[in-house]
Amino acid sequence: ANPAICRDLNKCILCRRCETACNVIQTVGVLSGVNRGFNVAVAPENFKPLSETACVFCGQCAQACPVGALTEIGYREDIWKALDDPKKTVIVQTAPAVRVAIGEEFGMEPGSISTGKLVAALRRLGFAKVFDTDWSADLTIMEEGTELMKRLETGENLPILTSCCPGWVNFMEYQFPDLLNLPSTAKSPQQMFGAIAKSYYAEKLGIDPADLIVVSVMPCLAKKYEAGREEFSNNGVPDVDYVLSTRELGAMIKEAGILFDLLPDEHYDSPLGESTGAGVIFGASGGVLEAALRTIAAKLEGEDKGAIEFCAIRGLEGVKEATITIAGIELKAAVVSGLGNARRLLEKIQRKEATYHAIEIMACPGGCINGGGQPYYHGNTSILEARKDAIYRADAGLPIPKSHLNPSIIKIYEEFLGEPNSEKAHHLLHTKYCPRIIQE
Ligand code: SF4
Ligand code: SF4
Repeated sequence: ANPAICRDLNKCILCRRCETACNVIQTVGVLSGVNRGFNVAVAPENFKPLSETACVFCGQCAQACPVGALTEIGYREDIWKALDDPKKTVIVQTAPAVRVAIGEEFGMEPGSISTGKLVAALRRLGFAKVFDTDWSADLTIMEEGTELMKRLETGENLPILTSCCPGWVNFMEYQFPDLLNLPSTAKSPQQMFGAIAKSYYAEKLGIDPADLIVVSVMPCLAKKYEAGREEFSNNGVPDVDYVLSTRELGAMIKEAGILFDLLPDEHYDSPLGESTGAGVIFGASGGVLEAALRTIAAKLEGEDKGAIEFCAIRGLEGVKEATITIAGIELKAAVVSGLGNARRLLEKIQRKEATYHAIEIMACPGGCINGGGQPYYHGNTSILEARKDAIYRADAGLPIPKSHLNPSIIKIYEEFLGEPNSEKAHHLLHTKYCPRIIQE
Protein backbone atom coordinates (compact mmCIF):
# COMPACT_ATOMS: atom_id res chain seq x y z
CA ALA A 1 0.00 0.00 0.00
CA ASN A 2 0.98 3.64 -0.43
CA PRO A 3 0.72 5.40 2.94
CA ALA A 4 2.57 8.53 1.86
CA ILE A 5 1.58 10.29 -1.37
CA CYS A 6 -1.92 11.32 -2.41
CA ARG A 7 -2.61 12.15 -6.09
CA ASP A 8 -5.61 14.17 -7.26
CA LEU A 9 -5.42 14.46 -11.03
CA ASN A 10 -8.44 16.79 -11.12
CA LYS A 11 -6.24 19.54 -9.71
CA CYS A 12 -3.30 18.91 -12.05
CA ILE A 13 -2.42 21.74 -14.47
CA LEU A 14 0.06 19.55 -16.41
CA CYS A 15 3.05 21.74 -15.56
CA ARG A 16 5.17 18.57 -15.30
CA ARG A 17 7.32 19.88 -12.46
CA CYS A 18 6.74 16.57 -10.64
CA GLU A 19 8.05 14.70 -13.66
CA THR A 20 11.28 16.72 -13.59
CA ALA A 21 11.65 16.10 -9.85
CA CYS A 22 11.08 12.36 -10.21
CA ASN A 23 12.90 11.68 -13.47
CA VAL A 24 15.68 14.25 -13.71
CA ILE A 25 16.59 15.06 -10.10
CA GLN A 26 15.76 11.75 -8.44
CA THR A 27 16.21 9.49 -11.52
CA VAL A 28 13.44 7.23 -10.24
CA GLY A 29 11.45 7.69 -13.44
CA VAL A 30 7.98 6.91 -12.15
CA LEU A 31 6.01 9.91 -13.46
CA SER A 32 5.59 10.87 -17.10
CA GLY A 33 3.05 12.20 -19.57
CA VAL A 34 0.62 9.45 -20.54
CA ASN A 35 -2.12 9.50 -23.22
CA ARG A 36 -2.72 12.31 -25.71
CA GLY A 37 -5.00 15.28 -26.31
CA PHE A 38 -7.81 15.74 -23.78
CA ASN A 39 -6.81 12.48 -22.06
CA VAL A 40 -3.25 13.52 -21.27
CA ALA A 41 -2.17 13.13 -17.63
CA VAL A 42 1.04 13.01 -15.62
CA ALA A 43 1.02 9.62 -13.95
CA PRO A 44 2.87 6.33 -13.62
CA GLU A 45 2.89 4.08 -16.67
CA ASN A 46 -0.57 2.55 -17.32
CA PHE A 47 -1.94 4.64 -14.42
CA LYS A 48 -0.55 2.10 -11.96
CA PRO A 49 -0.82 3.03 -8.28
CA LEU A 50 2.47 4.36 -6.92
CA SER A 51 2.73 1.31 -4.66
CA GLU A 52 3.17 -0.86 -7.77
CA THR A 53 6.03 1.24 -9.12
CA ALA A 54 9.60 1.90 -7.96
CA CYS A 55 8.41 5.08 -6.19
CA VAL A 56 10.50 5.61 -3.06
CA PHE A 57 8.00 8.06 -1.48
CA CYS A 58 10.60 10.82 -1.26
CA GLY A 59 7.86 13.40 -1.81
CA GLN A 60 9.98 15.63 -4.04
CA CYS A 61 7.12 15.56 -6.58
CA ALA A 62 4.71 16.84 -3.89
CA GLN A 63 7.22 19.52 -2.86
CA ALA A 64 7.40 20.66 -6.52
CA CYS A 65 3.67 20.58 -7.33
CA PRO A 66 2.32 24.16 -7.39
CA VAL A 67 -1.37 23.29 -7.01
CA GLY A 68 -1.59 20.50 -4.43
CA ALA A 69 -2.40 17.78 -6.98
CA LEU A 70 0.29 15.75 -5.23
CA THR A 71 0.32 15.95 -1.44
CA GLU A 72 0.92 13.80 1.61
CA ILE A 73 -1.63 11.29 2.85
CA GLY A 74 -2.81 12.86 6.10
CA TYR A 75 -3.30 11.33 9.54
CA ARG A 76 -4.60 14.35 11.47
CA GLU A 77 -8.02 12.85 12.14
CA ASP A 78 -6.52 9.65 13.59
CA ILE A 79 -4.25 11.68 15.85
CA TRP A 80 -7.07 13.92 17.12
CA LYS A 81 -9.01 10.72 17.95
CA ALA A 82 -6.04 9.17 19.77
CA LEU A 83 -5.48 12.39 21.75
CA ASP A 84 -9.12 12.22 22.79
CA ASP A 85 -8.98 8.58 23.90
CA PRO A 86 -8.51 8.31 27.69
CA LYS A 87 -7.17 4.74 27.34
CA LYS A 88 -4.21 5.88 25.24
CA THR A 89 -1.01 7.68 26.23
CA VAL A 90 0.04 9.69 23.18
CA ILE A 91 3.64 10.86 22.93
CA VAL A 92 5.38 12.71 20.12
CA GLN A 93 8.89 13.01 18.68
CA THR A 94 10.09 15.86 16.45
CA ALA A 95 12.79 15.49 13.79
CA PRO A 96 15.74 17.91 13.68
CA ALA A 97 14.69 19.73 10.48
CA VAL A 98 11.16 20.50 11.70
CA ARG A 99 12.31 23.14 14.23
CA VAL A 100 14.01 25.28 11.56
CA ALA A 101 11.03 25.27 9.16
CA ILE A 102 7.72 25.09 11.06
CA GLY A 103 7.84 28.84 11.81
CA GLU A 104 7.40 29.50 8.06
CA GLU A 105 3.87 28.06 8.34
CA PHE A 106 3.09 30.97 10.68
CA GLY A 107 4.78 33.79 8.75
CA MET A 108 8.05 33.68 10.69
CA GLU A 109 11.30 34.42 8.82
CA PRO A 110 12.90 31.41 7.07
CA GLY A 111 15.74 30.20 9.27
CA SER A 112 13.92 30.97 12.54
CA ILE A 113 14.72 28.35 15.18
CA SER A 114 11.36 27.52 16.77
CA THR A 115 12.32 24.60 19.00
CA GLY A 116 10.78 26.02 22.19
CA LYS A 117 7.54 27.11 20.50
CA LEU A 118 7.26 23.74 18.75
CA VAL A 119 7.43 21.98 22.13
CA ALA A 120 4.91 24.41 23.64
CA ALA A 121 2.49 23.92 20.72
CA LEU A 122 2.65 20.11 20.94
CA ARG A 123 1.90 20.26 24.69
CA ARG A 124 -1.11 22.46 24.03
CA LEU A 125 -2.35 19.99 21.40
CA GLY A 126 -2.54 17.44 24.20
CA PHE A 127 0.50 15.19 23.80
CA ALA A 128 1.36 13.55 27.12
CA LYS A 129 5.11 13.90 26.53
CA VAL A 130 7.05 15.85 23.94
CA PHE A 131 10.28 14.10 22.99
CA ASP A 132 13.00 14.71 20.45
CA THR A 133 14.21 12.61 17.51
CA ASP A 134 17.56 14.36 18.10
CA TRP A 135 17.82 12.09 21.14
CA SER A 136 17.57 8.97 18.98
CA ALA A 137 19.88 10.59 16.41
CA ASP A 138 22.47 10.49 19.22
CA LEU A 139 21.60 6.83 19.76
CA THR A 140 22.05 6.23 16.01
CA ILE A 141 25.57 7.65 16.22
CA MET A 142 26.42 5.26 19.05
CA GLU A 143 25.29 2.29 16.96
CA GLU A 144 26.35 3.41 13.48
CA GLY A 145 29.65 4.91 14.69
CA THR A 146 30.55 1.62 16.40
CA GLU A 147 29.66 -0.27 13.22
CA LEU A 148 31.88 2.07 11.14
CA MET A 149 34.83 1.58 13.52
CA LYS A 150 34.41 -2.21 13.30
CA ARG A 151 34.26 -2.13 9.50
CA LEU A 152 37.38 0.07 9.38
CA GLU A 153 39.20 -2.45 11.59
CA THR A 154 38.23 -5.47 9.48
CA GLY A 155 38.17 -3.72 6.09
CA GLU A 156 34.89 -5.49 5.32
CA ASN A 157 31.72 -4.05 3.76
CA LEU A 158 33.25 -0.68 2.94
CA PRO A 159 32.18 1.96 2.22
CA ILE A 160 29.58 2.06 4.95
CA LEU A 161 26.47 3.87 3.71
CA THR A 162 24.26 5.76 6.15
CA SER A 163 20.78 4.36 6.62
CA CYS A 164 18.75 7.13 8.29
CA CYS A 165 16.88 8.21 5.17
CA PRO A 166 14.00 5.87 4.25
CA GLY A 167 13.63 7.31 0.74
CA TRP A 168 17.25 6.44 0.08
CA VAL A 169 16.84 2.97 1.66
CA ASN A 170 13.86 2.28 -0.66
CA PHE A 171 15.91 3.45 -3.66
CA MET A 172 18.78 1.17 -2.64
CA GLU A 173 16.49 -1.85 -2.32
CA TYR A 174 14.97 -1.27 -5.77
CA GLN A 175 17.93 -0.03 -7.76
CA PHE A 176 21.10 -1.45 -6.15
CA PRO A 177 20.21 -4.88 -4.72
CA ASP A 178 23.81 -6.03 -5.28
CA LEU A 179 25.10 -3.45 -2.76
CA LEU A 180 22.79 -4.26 0.16
CA ASN A 181 25.75 -5.37 2.30
CA LEU A 182 26.95 -1.75 2.45
CA PRO A 183 24.29 0.29 4.30
CA SER A 184 24.67 0.45 8.06
CA THR A 185 22.24 -1.93 9.72
CA ALA A 186 21.30 0.81 12.21
CA LYS A 187 17.62 1.77 12.06
CA SER A 188 16.77 5.40 11.39
CA PRO A 189 16.41 7.76 14.37
CA GLN A 190 12.61 7.73 13.92
CA GLN A 191 12.48 3.95 14.23
CA MET A 192 15.06 3.76 17.02
CA PHE A 193 12.89 6.18 18.97
CA GLY A 194 9.79 4.05 18.35
CA ALA A 195 11.54 0.81 19.36
CA ILE A 196 12.83 2.35 22.61
CA ALA A 197 9.52 4.06 23.38
CA LYS A 198 7.57 0.81 23.05
CA SER A 199 10.05 -1.19 25.15
CA TYR A 200 12.16 0.81 27.65
CA TYR A 201 9.75 3.73 28.05
CA ALA A 202 6.52 1.68 28.11
CA GLU A 203 8.16 -0.51 30.77
CA LYS A 204 9.09 2.59 32.80
CA LEU A 205 5.48 3.81 32.61
CA GLY A 206 4.17 0.31 33.34
CA ILE A 207 1.81 0.36 30.37
CA ASP A 208 1.04 -2.03 27.53
CA PRO A 209 2.95 -0.89 24.38
CA ALA A 210 -0.35 -1.16 22.47
CA ASP A 211 -1.75 1.66 24.65
CA LEU A 212 1.26 3.90 24.01
CA ILE A 213 0.74 5.81 20.76
CA VAL A 214 3.93 7.17 19.19
CA VAL A 215 3.47 10.07 16.78
CA SER A 216 6.36 11.47 14.73
CA VAL A 217 6.61 14.92 13.23
CA MET A 218 8.88 14.59 10.24
CA PRO A 219 10.05 16.74 7.31
CA CYS A 220 9.68 13.64 5.19
CA LEU A 221 6.94 11.67 3.42
CA ALA A 222 9.00 8.47 3.14
CA LYS A 223 8.89 8.32 6.95
CA LYS A 224 5.17 7.53 6.63
CA TYR A 225 6.10 4.53 4.53
CA GLU A 226 8.98 3.55 6.83
CA ALA A 227 6.74 3.51 9.93
CA GLY A 228 4.48 0.97 8.21
CA ARG A 229 7.27 -1.48 7.28
CA GLU A 230 6.60 -4.88 8.78
CA GLU A 231 10.05 -5.19 10.35
CA PHE A 232 9.33 -2.10 12.48
CA SER A 233 6.59 -3.67 14.55
CA ASN A 234 6.47 -6.13 17.41
CA ASN A 235 3.60 -8.64 17.72
CA GLY A 236 1.56 -6.51 15.32
CA VAL A 237 2.13 -3.31 17.35
CA PRO A 238 3.97 -0.71 15.24
CA ASP A 239 6.92 1.06 16.87
CA VAL A 240 5.70 4.35 15.35
CA ASP A 241 1.93 4.68 14.98
CA TYR A 242 1.48 7.88 12.96
CA VAL A 243 3.75 10.21 11.03
CA LEU A 244 2.81 13.85 10.42
CA SER A 245 4.67 16.09 8.00
CA THR A 246 5.83 19.54 9.14
CA ARG A 247 3.04 21.01 6.97
CA GLU A 248 0.39 18.79 8.61
CA LEU A 249 1.54 19.78 12.09
CA GLY A 250 1.25 23.42 11.00
CA ALA A 251 -2.35 22.71 9.94
CA MET A 252 -3.13 20.97 13.27
CA ILE A 253 -1.78 23.91 15.25
CA LYS A 254 -3.97 26.26 13.17
CA GLU A 255 -7.01 23.97 13.63
CA ALA A 256 -6.51 24.21 17.39
CA GLY A 257 -6.43 28.01 17.20
CA ILE A 258 -2.96 28.20 18.76
CA LEU A 259 -1.04 31.40 18.00
CA PHE A 260 2.31 29.74 17.37
CA ASP A 261 4.49 32.85 17.16
CA LEU A 262 3.17 34.12 20.52
CA LEU A 263 3.90 30.89 22.42
CA PRO A 264 6.53 30.83 25.17
CA ASP A 265 9.65 28.70 24.64
CA GLU A 266 9.40 25.39 26.49
CA HIS A 267 11.77 22.43 26.95
CA TYR A 268 11.45 18.82 25.82
CA ASP A 269 10.48 16.18 28.36
CA SER A 270 12.92 13.74 29.88
CA PRO A 271 14.37 11.12 29.31
CA LEU A 272 13.91 10.88 25.51
CA GLY A 273 14.18 14.62 24.94
CA GLU A 274 17.78 15.39 25.91
CA SER A 275 20.02 15.81 22.89
CA THR A 276 23.25 17.26 21.56
CA GLY A 277 24.48 19.41 18.69
CA ALA A 278 25.40 16.19 16.88
CA GLY A 279 21.73 15.17 16.98
CA VAL A 280 20.40 18.41 15.51
CA ILE A 281 22.80 18.50 12.53
CA PHE A 282 21.18 15.32 11.18
CA GLY A 283 18.71 17.80 9.64
CA ALA A 284 21.12 19.03 6.94
CA SER A 285 23.11 17.16 4.30
CA GLY A 286 26.48 16.20 5.81
CA GLY A 287 25.21 16.25 9.38
CA VAL A 288 24.96 12.51 9.98
CA LEU A 289 28.52 11.90 8.88
CA GLU A 290 29.81 14.92 10.81
CA ALA A 291 28.04 13.70 13.96
CA ALA A 292 29.66 10.26 13.55
CA LEU A 293 33.10 11.84 12.95
CA ARG A 294 32.79 13.92 16.14
CA THR A 295 32.39 10.76 18.20
CA ILE A 296 35.00 8.76 16.29
CA ALA A 297 37.55 11.60 16.57
CA ALA A 298 36.93 11.86 20.32
CA LYS A 299 37.30 8.09 20.78
CA LEU A 300 40.49 7.81 18.70
CA GLU A 301 42.24 11.10 19.51
CA GLY A 302 40.92 11.89 22.98
CA GLU A 303 37.96 13.93 24.14
CA ASP A 304 39.77 17.29 24.13
CA LYS A 305 41.69 16.85 20.87
CA GLY A 306 39.08 15.40 18.51
CA ALA A 307 37.63 17.93 16.05
CA ILE A 308 34.04 19.12 16.39
CA GLU A 309 33.50 20.96 13.11
CA PHE A 310 33.94 19.19 9.76
CA CYS A 311 33.14 22.09 7.44
CA ALA A 312 34.24 20.33 4.21
CA ILE A 313 31.11 18.17 4.29
CA ARG A 314 28.63 20.96 5.09
CA GLY A 315 26.54 22.83 2.52
CA LEU A 316 23.78 22.29 -0.02
CA GLU A 317 25.98 20.96 -2.86
CA GLY A 318 24.71 17.61 -4.12
CA VAL A 319 28.10 15.87 -3.91
CA LYS A 320 30.82 16.67 -1.36
CA GLU A 321 34.02 14.72 -0.91
CA ALA A 322 36.72 15.00 1.73
CA THR A 323 39.68 13.07 3.08
CA ILE A 324 39.66 13.45 6.83
CA THR A 325 42.62 12.43 8.96
CA ILE A 326 41.73 11.07 12.40
CA ALA A 327 44.49 9.64 14.62
CA GLY A 328 46.67 9.11 11.54
CA ILE A 329 43.93 7.23 9.66
CA GLU A 330 42.96 8.81 6.33
CA LEU A 331 39.22 8.47 6.04
CA LYS A 332 37.83 9.02 2.55
CA ALA A 333 34.29 10.30 2.84
CA ALA A 334 31.53 11.45 0.51
CA VAL A 335 28.22 13.15 1.22
CA VAL A 336 25.53 12.94 -1.41
CA SER A 337 22.00 14.31 -1.51
CA GLY A 338 19.41 13.84 -4.23
CA LEU A 339 18.91 10.35 -5.62
CA GLY A 340 20.32 11.18 -9.07
CA ASN A 341 23.61 12.08 -7.37
CA ALA A 342 23.41 8.90 -5.29
CA ARG A 343 22.84 6.80 -8.41
CA ARG A 344 25.87 8.28 -10.19
CA LEU A 345 28.15 7.71 -7.17
CA LEU A 346 26.94 4.14 -6.58
CA GLU A 347 27.41 3.29 -10.26
CA LYS A 348 31.04 4.44 -9.91
CA ILE A 349 31.39 2.13 -6.90
CA GLN A 350 29.90 -0.75 -8.90
CA ARG A 351 32.43 -0.09 -11.67
CA LYS A 352 35.18 0.11 -9.00
CA GLU A 353 36.06 3.63 -10.16
CA ALA A 354 35.68 5.12 -6.69
CA THR A 355 36.71 4.00 -3.23
CA TYR A 356 35.50 5.50 0.03
CA HIS A 357 35.28 4.47 3.66
CA ALA A 358 32.00 6.19 4.46
CA ILE A 359 29.21 7.80 2.45
CA GLU A 360 26.21 9.71 3.73
CA ILE A 361 23.22 9.61 1.40
CA MET A 362 19.98 11.58 1.67
CA ALA A 363 17.18 11.29 -0.89
CA CYS A 364 16.19 14.95 -0.82
CA PRO A 365 18.57 17.56 -2.29
CA GLY A 366 20.20 19.36 0.66
CA GLY A 367 18.96 16.76 3.15
CA CYS A 368 15.92 16.78 5.48
CA ILE A 369 15.65 20.60 5.54
CA ASN A 370 14.29 20.12 1.98
CA GLY A 371 12.15 17.07 2.76
CA GLY A 372 8.96 16.38 0.85
CA GLY A 373 6.89 17.26 3.94
CA GLN A 374 8.49 20.63 4.70
CA PRO A 375 6.72 23.97 4.12
CA TYR A 376 6.65 24.78 0.40
CA TYR A 377 9.59 26.94 -0.65
CA HIS A 378 8.54 27.30 -4.32
CA GLY A 379 12.02 26.96 -5.74
CA ASN A 380 13.47 29.78 -3.59
CA THR A 381 16.72 28.13 -2.54
CA SER A 382 17.63 31.03 -0.22
CA ILE A 383 14.97 29.52 2.09
CA LEU A 384 16.88 26.23 2.11
CA GLU A 385 20.13 28.11 2.85
CA ALA A 386 18.42 29.86 5.77
CA ARG A 387 17.15 26.53 7.16
CA LYS A 388 20.61 24.98 6.80
CA ASP A 389 22.29 27.91 8.56
CA ALA A 390 19.68 27.62 11.34
CA ILE A 391 20.60 23.95 11.85
CA TYR A 392 24.25 24.88 12.50
CA ARG A 393 23.23 27.81 14.73
CA ALA A 394 21.07 25.41 16.74
CA ASP A 395 24.09 23.10 17.02
CA ALA A 396 26.35 25.93 18.21
CA GLY A 397 23.75 26.94 20.80
CA LEU A 398 23.64 23.54 22.50
CA PRO A 399 25.97 22.82 25.41
CA ILE A 400 26.98 19.28 24.36
CA PRO A 401 28.30 18.82 20.79
CA LYS A 402 28.87 15.03 20.74
CA SER A 403 26.37 12.17 20.92
CA HIS A 404 28.38 9.93 23.27
CA LEU A 405 28.37 12.69 25.91
CA ASN A 406 24.55 12.87 26.05
CA PRO A 407 23.78 11.91 29.70
CA SER A 408 20.51 10.16 28.90
CA ILE A 409 22.20 8.14 26.14
CA ILE A 410 24.92 7.09 28.61
CA LYS A 411 22.15 6.13 31.06
CA ILE A 412 20.12 4.02 28.64
CA TYR A 413 23.20 1.94 27.80
CA GLU A 414 23.91 1.49 31.53
CA GLU A 415 20.30 0.69 32.45
CA PHE A 416 18.96 -1.15 29.44
CA LEU A 417 21.02 -1.68 26.30
CA GLY A 418 24.46 -2.66 27.61
CA GLU A 419 27.10 -1.75 25.01
CA PRO A 420 26.60 -0.23 21.55
CA ASN A 421 26.04 -3.11 19.08
CA SER A 422 25.20 -5.48 22.00
CA GLU A 423 22.74 -8.31 21.35
CA LYS A 424 19.90 -6.28 22.85
CA ALA A 425 20.90 -3.19 20.84
CA HIS A 426 20.98 -5.31 17.70
CA HIS A 427 17.55 -6.72 18.41
CA LEU A 428 15.96 -3.31 19.03
CA LEU A 429 18.01 -0.86 17.00
CA HIS A 430 19.18 -2.65 13.86
CA THR A 431 17.44 -3.92 10.75
CA LYS A 432 18.02 -5.71 7.46
CA TYR A 433 17.41 -4.80 3.82
CA CYS A 434 15.71 -6.83 1.09
CA PRO A 435 15.98 -6.57 -2.68
CA ARG A 436 12.71 -5.36 -4.17
CA ILE A 437 11.19 -6.18 -7.50
CA ILE A 438 9.08 -3.73 -9.48
CA GLN A 439 5.73 -5.38 -10.21
CA GLU A 440 5.00 -5.71 -13.95
S1 SF4 B 1 7.63 10.34 -4.27
FE1 SF4 B 1 9.67 10.56 -5.23
S2 SF4 B 1 9.94 8.62 -6.31
FE2 SF4 B 1 7.75 8.76 -5.85
S3 SF4 B 1 6.80 9.70 -7.64
FE3 SF4 B 1 7.32 11.37 -6.24
S4 SF4 B 1 9.38 12.07 -6.86
FE4 SF4 B 1 9.02 10.04 -7.80
S1 SF4 C 1 3.53 19.14 -10.47
FE1 SF4 C 1 1.35 18.97 -9.89
S2 SF4 C 1 0.29 20.28 -11.38
FE2 SF4 C 1 2.34 19.92 -12.23
S3 SF4 C 1 2.07 18.10 -13.55
FE3 SF4 C 1 2.70 17.33 -11.54
S4 SF4 C 1 0.78 16.87 -10.47
FE4 SF4 C 1 0.28 18.20 -12.23
